[in-house]
Amino acid sequence: KKKIAVMTSGGDSPGMNGTVRAVVRQTIASGCVAFAVYEGYQGLVDGGDMIKHMSWEDVRGWLSEGGTLIGTARCAAFRERPGRLQAANNMIEKGIDALVICGGDGSLTGADKFRDEWPGLMDELVAKGLRSKEDVAPHQHLNIVGLVGSIDNDLSSTDATIGCYSSLGRICQMVDYIDATALSHQRAFVIEVMGRHCGWLALMAGVSCGADFVFIPENPPSENWEEEMCSIVKRHRAMGKRKTIVIVCEGAQDRKLNHITGKMVNDLLATRIGLDTRITTLGHVQRGGPPCAYDRMLSTLQGVEAVKAVLEATPETPSPVICIVENKIVRKDLMQAIQLTQQVAKDIAARDFEAAMKGRDAEFEE
Ligand code: ADP
Repeated sequence: KKKIAVMTSGGDSPGMNGTVRAVVRQTIASGCVAFAVYEGYQGLVDGGDMIKHMSWEDVRGWLSEGGTLIGTARCAAFRERPGRLQAANNMIEKGIDALVICGGDGSLTGADKFRDEWPGLMDELVAKGLRSKEDVAPHQHLNIVGLVGSIDNDLSSTDATIGCYSSLGRICQMVDYIDATALSHQRAFVIEVMGRHCGWLALMAGVSCGADFVFIPENPPSENWEEEMCSIVKRHRAMGKRKTIVIVCEGAQDRKLNHITGKMVNDLLATRIGLDTRITTLGHVQRGGPPCAYDRMLSTLQGVEAVKAVLEATPETPSPVICIVENKIVRKDLMQAIQLTQQVAKDIAARDFEAAMKGRDAEFEE
Protein backbone atom coordinates (compact mmCIF):
# COMPACT_ATOMS: atom_id res chain seq x y z
CA LYS A 1 0.00 0.00 0.00
CA LYS A 2 1.36 3.39 -0.99
CA LYS A 3 2.09 5.73 1.89
CA ILE A 4 1.43 9.42 1.37
CA ALA A 5 2.42 12.17 3.82
CA VAL A 6 1.04 15.69 4.02
CA MET A 7 2.80 18.68 5.54
CA THR A 8 2.21 22.41 6.04
CA SER A 9 5.25 24.67 5.86
CA GLY A 10 6.29 28.34 5.91
CA GLY A 11 3.76 31.01 6.93
CA ASP A 12 0.35 29.67 7.97
CA SER A 13 -2.83 30.54 6.12
CA PRO A 14 -6.54 29.84 6.64
CA GLY A 15 -7.48 26.71 4.69
CA MET A 16 -4.33 24.71 5.42
CA ASN A 17 -6.34 22.41 7.70
CA GLY A 18 -8.84 21.80 4.92
CA THR A 19 -5.91 20.74 2.74
CA VAL A 20 -4.64 18.27 5.33
CA ARG A 21 -8.14 16.89 5.79
CA ALA A 22 -8.66 16.44 2.05
CA VAL A 23 -5.27 14.81 1.47
CA VAL A 24 -5.71 12.41 4.41
CA ARG A 25 -9.21 11.38 3.41
CA GLN A 26 -8.55 11.10 -0.33
CA THR A 27 -5.46 9.01 0.46
CA ILE A 28 -7.55 6.63 2.58
CA ALA A 29 -10.38 6.58 0.03
CA SER A 30 -7.83 5.58 -2.64
CA GLY A 31 -6.75 2.56 -0.58
CA CYS A 32 -3.45 4.12 0.52
CA VAL A 33 -2.05 4.98 3.96
CA ALA A 34 -2.02 8.59 5.17
CA PHE A 35 0.60 10.32 7.32
CA ALA A 36 0.97 13.89 8.55
CA VAL A 37 4.33 15.51 9.19
CA TYR A 38 4.06 17.87 12.17
CA GLU A 39 5.91 21.24 12.39
CA GLY A 40 6.90 21.48 8.73
CA TYR A 41 10.35 20.31 7.61
CA GLN A 42 11.47 20.26 11.25
CA GLY A 43 9.16 17.27 11.78
CA LEU A 44 10.64 15.53 8.77
CA VAL A 45 14.19 16.07 10.07
CA ASP A 46 13.25 15.00 13.63
CA GLY A 47 11.17 11.98 12.57
CA GLY A 48 9.68 9.60 15.14
CA ASP A 49 6.37 10.84 16.53
CA MET A 50 6.52 13.93 14.33
CA ILE A 51 5.47 11.76 11.38
CA LYS A 52 2.08 10.42 12.42
CA HIS A 53 -0.22 7.89 10.87
CA MET A 54 -3.59 9.58 10.23
CA SER A 55 -7.04 8.05 10.30
CA TRP A 56 -10.29 9.35 8.81
CA GLU A 57 -11.42 10.53 12.26
CA ASP A 58 -8.17 12.34 13.02
CA VAL A 59 -9.13 15.22 10.72
CA ARG A 60 -12.79 15.47 11.69
CA GLY A 61 -13.92 19.10 12.06
CA TRP A 62 -10.71 20.51 10.55
CA LEU A 63 -12.36 22.19 7.57
CA SER A 64 -13.52 25.24 9.53
CA GLU A 65 -10.41 25.66 11.71
CA GLY A 66 -7.97 28.53 11.02
CA GLY A 67 -4.18 28.22 11.09
CA THR A 68 -2.65 24.77 10.78
CA LEU A 69 -3.32 22.12 13.42
CA ILE A 70 -0.28 20.02 12.40
CA GLY A 71 1.92 23.06 12.96
CA THR A 72 4.36 24.82 10.70
CA ALA A 73 7.93 25.99 11.16
CA ARG A 74 10.92 27.52 9.48
CA CYS A 75 13.67 24.90 9.50
CA ALA A 76 17.32 25.80 8.87
CA ALA A 77 18.48 22.14 8.99
CA PHE A 78 16.45 21.20 5.92
CA ARG A 79 18.29 23.82 3.86
CA GLU A 80 21.47 21.71 4.22
CA ARG A 81 22.06 18.30 2.72
CA PRO A 82 22.74 16.50 6.07
CA GLY A 83 19.31 17.66 7.28
CA ARG A 84 17.67 16.34 4.13
CA LEU A 85 19.55 13.03 4.51
CA GLN A 86 18.10 12.68 8.00
CA ALA A 87 14.64 13.54 6.64
CA ALA A 88 14.97 10.88 3.93
CA ASN A 89 16.05 8.33 6.54
CA ASN A 90 12.99 9.10 8.66
CA MET A 91 10.71 8.72 5.65
CA ILE A 92 12.22 5.36 4.67
CA GLU A 93 11.75 4.16 8.24
CA LYS A 94 8.00 4.66 7.76
CA GLY A 95 8.00 3.55 4.12
CA ILE A 96 6.89 6.95 2.80
CA ASP A 97 7.93 8.10 -0.67
CA ALA A 98 5.23 10.64 -1.52
CA LEU A 99 4.91 14.08 0.05
CA VAL A 100 2.18 16.67 -0.43
CA ILE A 101 3.37 20.08 0.78
CA CYS A 102 1.15 23.08 1.41
CA GLY A 103 3.28 26.19 1.70
CA GLY A 104 4.80 29.19 -0.02
CA ASP A 105 7.44 29.34 -2.74
CA GLY A 106 10.30 28.68 -0.28
CA SER A 107 8.73 25.47 0.99
CA LEU A 108 7.96 24.28 -2.52
CA THR A 109 11.49 25.03 -3.75
CA GLY A 110 12.91 22.97 -0.88
CA ALA A 111 10.56 20.11 -1.74
CA ASP A 112 11.64 19.99 -5.37
CA LYS A 113 15.30 20.04 -4.37
CA PHE A 114 14.61 17.10 -2.03
CA ARG A 115 13.06 15.16 -4.88
CA ASP A 116 16.04 15.90 -7.16
CA GLU A 117 18.49 14.67 -4.57
CA TRP A 118 16.44 11.66 -3.48
CA PRO A 119 18.23 8.91 -5.50
CA GLY A 120 21.60 10.22 -4.24
CA LEU A 121 20.26 10.34 -0.68
CA MET A 122 19.16 6.70 -0.97
CA ASP A 123 22.69 5.70 -2.09
CA GLU A 124 24.19 7.64 0.78
CA LEU A 125 21.91 5.98 3.35
CA VAL A 126 23.08 2.56 2.12
CA ALA A 127 26.75 3.61 1.87
CA LYS A 128 26.68 4.88 5.45
CA GLY A 129 25.04 1.69 6.67
CA LEU A 130 21.95 3.59 7.89
CA ARG A 131 19.62 1.56 5.65
CA SER A 132 19.88 -1.77 3.86
CA LYS A 133 19.57 -2.08 0.08
CA GLU A 134 16.29 -3.94 0.66
CA ASP A 135 14.93 -1.00 2.70
CA VAL A 136 15.52 1.56 -0.02
CA ALA A 137 14.84 -0.65 -3.08
CA PRO A 138 11.04 0.02 -3.22
CA HIS A 139 11.58 3.79 -2.77
CA GLN A 140 13.84 4.86 -5.63
CA HIS A 141 11.77 7.92 -6.46
CA LEU A 142 10.20 10.59 -4.34
CA ASN A 143 6.87 12.07 -5.42
CA ILE A 144 6.36 15.70 -4.56
CA VAL A 145 3.12 17.61 -5.08
CA GLY A 146 2.79 21.28 -4.12
CA LEU A 147 -0.23 23.18 -2.89
CA VAL A 148 0.06 26.92 -2.44
CA GLY A 149 -0.93 28.06 1.03
CA SER A 150 -0.42 31.80 1.49
CA ILE A 151 -2.55 34.80 2.38
CA ASP A 152 -0.52 36.94 -0.03
CA ASN A 153 -1.71 35.38 -3.32
CA ASP A 154 1.87 35.74 -4.46
CA LEU A 155 2.43 32.74 -6.71
CA SER A 156 2.35 33.19 -10.49
CA SER A 157 0.34 30.52 -12.33
CA THR A 158 -2.60 30.27 -9.95
CA ASP A 159 -5.48 32.73 -9.67
CA ALA A 160 -5.81 32.23 -5.92
CA THR A 161 -3.67 30.75 -3.16
CA ILE A 162 -5.27 28.89 -0.27
CA GLY A 163 -5.97 31.57 2.35
CA CYS A 164 -5.96 34.77 0.31
CA TYR A 165 -9.74 35.20 0.19
CA SER A 166 -10.10 34.58 3.94
CA SER A 167 -7.51 37.27 4.54
CA LEU A 168 -9.13 39.69 2.10
CA GLY A 169 -12.47 39.13 3.83
CA ARG A 170 -10.89 39.86 7.20
CA ILE A 171 -9.32 43.09 5.91
CA CYS A 172 -12.69 44.25 4.54
CA GLN A 173 -14.36 43.50 7.85
CA MET A 174 -11.70 45.49 9.73
CA VAL A 175 -11.96 48.44 7.33
CA ASP A 176 -15.74 48.41 7.85
CA TYR A 177 -15.14 48.76 11.59
CA ILE A 178 -12.72 51.60 11.00
CA ASP A 179 -15.11 53.26 8.54
CA ALA A 180 -17.71 53.72 11.24
CA THR A 181 -15.42 55.63 13.57
CA ALA A 182 -13.70 57.50 10.70
CA LEU A 183 -17.09 58.77 9.50
CA SER A 184 -18.09 59.88 12.97
CA HIS A 185 -15.00 62.08 13.41
CA GLN A 186 -14.39 62.87 9.71
CA ARG A 187 -10.97 61.27 10.11
CA ALA A 188 -8.48 59.83 7.67
CA PHE A 189 -7.09 56.34 8.24
CA VAL A 190 -3.97 54.84 6.74
CA ILE A 191 -4.35 51.08 6.80
CA GLU A 192 -1.25 48.92 6.50
CA VAL A 193 -1.95 45.45 5.14
CA MET A 194 0.18 42.34 4.63
CA GLY A 195 1.29 40.94 1.28
CA ARG A 196 5.06 41.36 1.46
CA HIS A 197 6.14 42.05 -2.13
CA CYS A 198 2.75 41.26 -3.62
CA GLY A 199 0.07 43.97 -3.77
CA TRP A 200 -2.90 41.67 -4.34
CA LEU A 201 -4.37 42.01 -0.82
CA ALA A 202 -3.92 45.81 -0.82
CA LEU A 203 -5.31 46.26 -4.31
CA MET A 204 -8.34 44.00 -3.82
CA ALA A 205 -9.01 45.54 -0.40
CA GLY A 206 -8.92 48.96 -2.05
CA VAL A 207 -11.51 47.89 -4.60
CA SER A 208 -13.65 46.07 -2.03
CA CYS A 209 -13.63 48.88 0.52
CA GLY A 210 -13.80 51.88 -1.80
CA ALA A 211 -10.44 53.24 -0.64
CA ASP A 212 -9.31 56.70 -1.76
CA PHE A 213 -5.78 55.58 -2.65
CA VAL A 214 -3.78 52.33 -2.67
CA PHE A 215 -0.01 51.74 -2.62
CA ILE A 216 1.30 48.46 -4.08
CA PRO A 217 4.85 47.39 -5.05
CA GLU A 218 4.10 46.26 -8.62
CA ASN A 219 2.63 49.58 -9.73
CA PRO A 220 4.24 52.43 -7.81
CA PRO A 221 2.53 55.82 -7.96
CA SER A 222 3.78 58.64 -10.19
CA GLU A 223 6.94 60.61 -9.38
CA ASN A 224 4.89 63.35 -7.71
CA TRP A 225 2.68 60.93 -5.82
CA GLU A 226 2.47 63.10 -2.74
CA GLU A 227 0.63 65.81 -4.66
CA GLU A 228 -1.40 63.30 -6.64
CA MET A 229 -2.68 61.52 -3.55
CA CYS A 230 -3.45 64.76 -1.71
CA SER A 231 -5.37 66.23 -4.63
CA ILE A 232 -7.46 63.05 -5.00
CA VAL A 233 -8.24 63.00 -1.28
CA LYS A 234 -9.14 66.71 -1.35
CA ARG A 235 -11.41 66.17 -4.36
CA HIS A 236 -13.21 63.32 -2.59
CA ARG A 237 -13.65 65.48 0.49
CA ALA A 238 -15.00 68.34 -1.63
CA MET A 239 -17.57 65.90 -3.03
CA GLY A 240 -18.87 65.39 0.49
CA LYS A 241 -16.93 62.33 1.68
CA ARG A 242 -16.57 62.41 5.48
CA LYS A 243 -13.77 59.85 5.72
CA THR A 244 -10.55 58.97 3.95
CA ILE A 245 -9.11 55.48 3.65
CA VAL A 246 -5.62 54.91 2.18
CA ILE A 247 -4.36 51.34 1.97
CA VAL A 248 -0.62 50.65 2.04
CA CYS A 249 0.88 47.24 1.22
CA GLU A 250 3.79 46.40 3.54
CA GLY A 251 6.12 46.22 0.51
CA ALA A 252 4.92 49.50 -1.08
CA GLN A 253 7.52 51.63 -2.80
CA ASP A 254 7.92 54.58 -5.12
CA ARG A 255 9.25 54.43 -8.69
CA LYS A 256 12.82 54.70 -7.41
CA LEU A 257 12.16 51.70 -5.13
CA ASN A 258 12.19 53.72 -1.91
CA HIS A 259 9.90 52.18 0.70
CA ILE A 260 6.61 54.06 1.21
CA THR A 261 5.47 53.63 4.78
CA GLY A 262 2.15 54.22 6.47
CA LYS A 263 3.83 56.89 8.59
CA MET A 264 4.89 58.84 5.48
CA VAL A 265 1.34 58.78 4.13
CA ASN A 266 -0.09 59.67 7.54
CA ASP A 267 2.17 62.73 7.85
CA LEU A 268 1.27 63.95 4.36
CA LEU A 269 -2.46 63.75 5.01
CA ALA A 270 -2.04 65.52 8.33
CA THR A 271 0.35 68.30 7.31
CA ARG A 272 -0.63 69.02 3.69
CA ILE A 273 -4.41 68.63 4.01
CA GLY A 274 -4.78 69.09 7.74
CA LEU A 275 -6.79 65.92 8.24
CA ASP A 276 -7.09 64.28 11.64
CA THR A 277 -5.25 61.08 10.67
CA ARG A 278 -4.57 57.71 12.29
CA ILE A 279 -2.56 54.67 11.24
CA THR A 280 -3.90 51.16 11.75
CA THR A 281 -1.58 48.23 11.09
CA LEU A 282 -3.90 45.26 10.79
CA GLY A 283 -1.19 42.69 11.58
CA HIS A 284 -1.92 39.05 12.31
CA VAL A 285 -5.72 39.30 12.37
CA GLN A 286 -5.20 38.98 8.61
CA ARG A 287 -3.73 35.49 9.05
CA GLY A 288 -5.95 34.09 11.79
CA GLY A 289 -9.57 33.11 12.13
CA PRO A 290 -11.70 30.59 10.27
CA PRO A 291 -11.27 30.12 6.51
CA CYS A 292 -14.00 31.56 4.29
CA ALA A 293 -16.17 29.31 2.11
CA TYR A 294 -13.93 29.83 -0.92
CA ASP A 295 -10.82 28.62 0.94
CA ARG A 296 -12.68 25.58 2.31
CA MET A 297 -13.72 24.70 -1.22
CA LEU A 298 -10.29 25.41 -2.74
CA SER A 299 -8.36 23.45 -0.10
CA THR A 300 -10.68 20.47 -0.46
CA LEU A 301 -10.68 20.31 -4.26
CA GLN A 302 -6.94 20.90 -4.47
CA GLY A 303 -6.15 18.36 -1.73
CA VAL A 304 -8.10 15.71 -3.63
CA GLU A 305 -6.31 16.65 -6.86
CA ALA A 306 -2.93 16.44 -5.12
CA VAL A 307 -3.51 12.80 -4.15
CA LYS A 308 -4.62 12.00 -7.70
CA ALA A 309 -1.42 13.63 -8.98
CA VAL A 310 0.66 11.49 -6.60
CA LEU A 311 -0.99 8.32 -7.81
CA GLU A 312 -0.53 9.22 -11.49
CA ALA A 313 3.07 10.44 -11.18
CA THR A 314 5.94 8.74 -12.99
CA PRO A 315 9.66 9.28 -12.33
CA GLU A 316 9.75 11.35 -15.55
CA THR A 317 6.93 13.80 -14.74
CA PRO A 318 8.19 17.02 -13.17
CA SER A 319 6.80 17.85 -9.72
CA PRO A 320 3.38 19.45 -10.12
CA VAL A 321 1.78 22.30 -8.21
CA ILE A 322 -2.01 22.31 -7.96
CA CYS A 323 -3.46 25.61 -9.20
CA ILE A 324 -6.81 27.19 -9.95
CA VAL A 325 -7.11 28.96 -13.30
CA GLU A 326 -10.38 30.47 -14.47
CA ASN A 327 -12.24 28.41 -11.89
CA LYS A 328 -10.70 25.10 -12.89
CA ILE A 329 -8.38 23.03 -10.73
CA VAL A 330 -5.29 22.31 -12.83
CA ARG A 331 -1.75 20.93 -12.43
CA LYS A 332 1.24 23.01 -13.46
CA ASP A 333 4.98 22.52 -13.42
CA LEU A 334 6.04 23.46 -9.90
CA MET A 335 9.49 24.82 -10.67
CA GLN A 336 8.25 26.79 -13.66
CA ALA A 337 5.61 28.42 -11.43
CA ILE A 338 8.30 29.37 -8.91
CA GLN A 339 10.64 30.74 -11.57
CA LEU A 340 7.84 32.93 -12.96
CA THR A 341 7.07 34.17 -9.46
CA GLN A 342 10.72 35.06 -8.91
CA GLN A 343 10.76 36.82 -12.25
CA VAL A 344 8.14 39.28 -10.97
CA ALA A 345 10.49 40.24 -8.13
CA LYS A 346 13.27 40.68 -10.70
CA ASP A 347 11.01 42.85 -12.88
CA ILE A 348 10.28 45.10 -9.91
CA ALA A 349 13.98 45.30 -8.99
CA ALA A 350 14.71 46.28 -12.63
CA ARG A 351 11.87 48.84 -12.42
CA ASP A 352 10.02 47.16 -15.29
CA PHE A 353 6.64 47.76 -13.64
CA GLU A 354 4.64 46.97 -16.77
CA ALA A 355 6.06 43.44 -16.81
CA ALA A 356 5.58 43.11 -13.06
CA MET A 357 1.89 44.03 -13.32
CA LYS A 358 1.30 41.31 -15.90
CA GLY A 359 2.48 38.79 -13.34
CA ARG A 360 3.87 36.74 -16.22
CA ASP A 361 1.00 34.25 -16.06
CA ALA A 362 0.44 34.66 -19.78
CA GLU A 363 3.91 33.32 -20.52
CA PHE A 364 3.21 30.01 -18.88
CA GLU A 365 3.64 27.18 -21.33
CA GLU A 366 0.77 24.75 -21.24
P1 ADP B 1 7.41 29.97 2.49
O1 ADP B 1 7.21 28.53 2.17
O2 ADP B 1 6.21 30.57 3.16
O3 ADP B 1 7.92 30.77 1.31
P2 ADP B 1 10.11 29.95 3.70
O4 ADP B 1 10.75 30.59 2.52
O5 ADP B 1 10.50 30.42 5.05
O6 ADP B 1 8.51 30.05 3.67
O7 ADP B 1 10.41 28.38 3.61
C1 ADP B 1 9.93 27.50 4.61
C2 ADP B 1 10.96 26.42 4.86
O8 ADP B 1 11.20 25.67 3.64
C3 ADP B 1 12.34 26.90 5.28
O9 ADP B 1 12.42 27.15 6.65
C4 ADP B 1 13.22 25.73 4.88
O10 ADP B 1 13.17 24.68 5.84
C5 ADP B 1 12.55 25.24 3.60
N1 ADP B 1 13.23 25.83 2.42
C6 ADP B 1 13.00 27.04 1.85
N2 ADP B 1 13.82 27.25 0.79
C7 ADP B 1 14.59 26.15 0.69
C8 ADP B 1 15.65 25.73 -0.19
N3 ADP B 1 16.08 26.51 -1.19
N4 ADP B 1 16.21 24.52 0.03
C9 ADP B 1 15.79 23.72 1.03
N5 ADP B 1 14.81 24.05 1.88
C10 ADP B 1 14.22 25.24 1.74
